[in-house]
Amino acid sequence: MPVIPRILDHVDELTAIRRDIHAHPELGFEEQRTSEIVAAKLAEWGIEVHRGLAKTGIVGTLRRGNSLRSIGLRADMDCLPMQELNEFAHASTHSGKMHACGHDGHTTMLLGAARYLAETRNFNGAVHFIFQPAEEGGGGGKVMIDEGFFEKFPCDAVFALHNRPGIPVGEMAARPGPLLASSDRFDIRIKGKGTHAAHPHAGIDPFVIGAQIVLALQTITSRSKDPVETSVVSVGFMRGGSAYNVIPDELHIGGTARAFRPEVRDLIERRVGEIARGIAGTFGATATVDYARNYPPTINDADETAFAASVAAEICGETGVRNNYPPSMGSEDFSYFLEKRPGAMLWLGNGPGEGGCFLHNARYDFNDSAIPTGASFLARLAERFLEREAKPS
Ligand SMILES: [Zn+2]
Ligand SMILES: [Zn+2]
Repeated sequence: MPVIPRILDHVDELTAIRRDIHAHPELGFEEQRTSEIVAAKLAEWGIEVHRGLAKTGIVGTLRRGNSLRSIGLRADMDCLPMQELNEFAHASTHSGKMHACGHDGHTTMLLGAARYLAETRNFNGAVHFIFQPAEEGGGGGKVMIDEGFFEKFPCDAVFALHNRPGIPVGEMAARPGPLLASSDRFDIRIKGKGTHAAHPHAGIDPFVIGAQIVLALQTITSRSKDPVETSVVSVGFMRGGSAYNVIPDELHIGGTARAFRPEVRDLIERRVGEIARGIAGTFGATATVDYARNYPPTINDADETAFAASVAAEICGETGVRNNYPPSMGSEDFSYFLEKRPGAMLWLGNGPGEGGCFLHNARYDFNDSAIPTGASFLARLAERFLEREAKPS
């Protein structure tokens, strides 16, 4: 596989860094140790280090030549609040924290690319290496942008990788347009009237109302939305009550909604409110609805995706790149970067995975044999991007 030989030379050090970060996972905005490792390595390789964005965010900048072209390459550094079940030597030493999404690998591969580019400097322009905190729900990418990332570090385009089980190691996948969905949350609080469970007629039962709301929420995707559009509405919890023989006053229902297009997102928000309030009203109860918009959909720019896929083919071979890979209803805060600049996120094969497990599984582990492919791709992407002519604006 034609990965960059010079990156292969450093694979032992990169693997050691990856396993060290895996063994010491840190939650969003708490990536002190991880960001210290990143900053120290960047400085050691002669890369300008900028701290201070989004608490633990680090940006490394390399410039060469007189071109005003610039590219941003982004990795995420945070772990998940879950207990690791692996027992290998580099398993998490932090109780209740685990790198189950492979961000340890993302950070390591971007370091590998940074080292190569710092040593070879075979480009004309600027490369910004973006190490962001808090991808797993905290929106660290958004915080970096809100705190002035693009003003301080102008980028013509931005790119990222995410590891993906189910794609063989040494292969990659790309998709123009919608890659990942938006991620919104809703809270429905039904206020009925508590009573003795043997005397339901003396109260207003929020469970019976809540059960009908849960069923009716499924009609948003099956009956309110155009069937050719994709979306998901899922209830994640129902909380209420405390005794076998008591009908409580209140029930709290919470869940998530995913979509690719803003119009569908608007429709879901409107219908969740109408359904909850309407059904509650039918039974003499009230419902209050909070709908919170979290990550926007991750939309890859078509031209930049084609460009990145052509670079992936240089590293993985033509048959090693899957184009038009199916979209997923997961979400990513790289979406905030892609709202501001053209670019793309690509999938990097992680192999079948230990026991075939997927991301966010308590036995997940980033596959170290994918490091050369990912680091080579990011490095070559920067070189190729900066040798391209600027698009006329
Ligand atoms: Zn994740
Ligand atoms: Zn992730």
